[in-house]
Amino acid sequence: AKSEGRGRYQMYVPVLGEALIKRQQLAEALRLALETAQGLALWYQPIMDISGTKMRGIEALLRWQHPTLGPVSPADFIPVAEETGLIIPLGDWVLQQACGMAKNCPHLRMSVNVSPLQFLAGNFIERLREIVQQAGVDPKQIELEITEGVMLEDHQQALRTIQTLRSAGFRIALDDFGTGYSSLNYLTQFPVDTLKIDRSFIQLLGIQEQADTIVSSVIKLGHSLGLSVTAEGVETEQQRQALSAAGCDKLQGFLLSRPQPAEVLFAGHAV
Ligand code: C2E
Ligand code: CA
Ligand code: CA
Ligand code: CA
Repeated sequence: AKSEGRGRYQMYVPVLGEALIKRQQLAEALRLALETAQGLALWYQPIMDISGTKMRGIEALLRWQHPTLGPVSPADFIPVAEETGLIIPLGDWVLQQACGMAKNCPHLRMSVNVSPLQFLAGNFIERLREIVQQAGVDPKQIELEITEGVMLEDHQQALRTIQTLRSAGFRIALDDFGTGYSSLNYLTQFPVDTLKIDRSFIQLLGIQEQADTIVSSVIKLGHSLGLSVTAEGVETEQQRQALSAAGCDKLQGFLLSRPQPAEVLFAGHAV
């Protein structure tokens, strides 16, 4: 039985070990990037009005250029940052940078992604207040994008945090709406300001009849709860028109603009 156990050990561990090493190396490199402030940057994607002509705000999106791997997708390194706890200092860095940028463009709302772990950390509110104060930014200019994940983790803590942040003036957006388990249920329970409809629904507009029905129902529901509704991942003029007809408030996506470094986004404009 012992040798059998060892055989199994030898079969599985190297594979697992390799994944662990890669993850650990990624975490190490990320830690170094954070310490030296090298290779990390925020890019910004415009959030437009429904006609697609007026910029209503920008969303900060984290970019990481690894010294040898090149650009690493947030979809790959955010989970590593979450697993290693690095998401806390990384999230602070993102908030500091985004607030600094918000200070430079006071006419634009700044949307910042906050991971569930970061949001639910005991001292998140205090740290955020300090960051905002140091940047000299009005909390009203900042919208924090959270996902249903925060509600699944710790319902009561999430609710308290949302309430405290909103009474301090921050806005809260529910990101990736429609991708979670019990979106409709949570929506009525959590007092947010903005609903962001996930790209997966927007993609199917005009292709799948149900998608049109779902999207317009979500917009109606959002409005009945007094929320502003943003469509994510808008890529075609046809999608924009369908969203406009359905009464959607704001648009975000490659049709309007890709995420860009601030100096590119604002080239030639006074910020
Ligand atoms: P998200 O918050 O849902 O951000 C939207 C993602 O969709 C971004 O990917 C953006 O570049 C992409 N996108 C925007 N418009 C379009 C479009 O028209 N078509 C397509 N195909 N994609 C579009 P990105 O920047 O790779 O970020 C992926 C995810 O990583 C984000 O999803 C967010 O969950 C996470 N993330 C990014 N930055 C941060 C951050 O600073 N903190 C945390 N906690 N998470 C972040
Ligand atoms: Ca987001
Ligand atoms: Ca999203
Ligand atoms: Ca997402």
